[in-house]
Amino acid sequence: MRLRNIRGSREAIAESPFVVHGETGQKGNWKALFGNDGPVYIEIGMGKGQFLMAQAKLHPDRNYVGIEKYSSVLLRAIEKQQQEQLPNVRLIRMEAEYITDVFEKKEAAGIYLNFSDPWPKDRHAKRRLTSRQFLKRYEQIIEPGGIVQFKTDNTALFDFSLEEAKAAGWELLCCTRDLHKDRTLSAGNIMTEYEERFSAAGNPICMMRIKPRPEM
Ligand code: SAH
Repeated sequence: MRLRNIRGSREAIAESPFVVHGETGQKGNWKALFGNDGPVYIEIGMGKGQFLMAQAKLHPDRNYVGIEKYSSVLLRAIEKQQQEQLPNVRLIRMEAEYITDVFEKKEAAGIYLNFSDPWPKDRHAKRRLTSRQFLKRYEQIIEPGGIVQFKTDNTALFDFSLEEAKAAGWELLCCTRDLHKDRTLSAGNIMTEYEERFSAAGNPICMMRIKPRPEM
């Protein structure tokens, strides 16, 4: 999702009280930043923030950090958050590859990946947010019992992600290839922008929840 480069987006990002700057300085300090002891959930590639903010409204006792690499997209989420003013939401403009510089061991209760970029070429596999390289990073920051939830309409990416989770020794908690037809798993499902668009176009939505195996 690359929007045209909106003039002034860098300035708007720099000035927003909801955007965390110097995010590496936050490592280990997220609960202090939110001013409570609630769990911290991360969405990587939150786009315009519809899912993140709906979750945050539904669970005011939890904290939510949205990560997005493009300023022009982040700006849309900032605009939404400026209207909503949700105290339990913060946003970061960053490349997710560096996530372990920003979150301490066991600092995240869970990670959401929604309609992540497919990177279809084999040589780009390690850039996929569900690659074993990324799972290794998540393993470091997820607390015991914490999970990764992944939704996509891209079956090739979904198959890849199942294989990567298995290869990395993660446990598959649940899995569906047609979320909206699964009464149990779709209960309480919050649609993302992409999910609305792709399901309206007739694409079934795949969803999995996985969790790292406990350390021995
Ligand atoms: N989650 C939203 C948007 C999906 S598009 C939805 O479901 O509607 C994927 C988004 O992830 C894009 O906005 C893209 O810029 C962002 N993204 C992809 N790879 C990323 C990475 N490595 N680090 C941070 N953001 C990333």
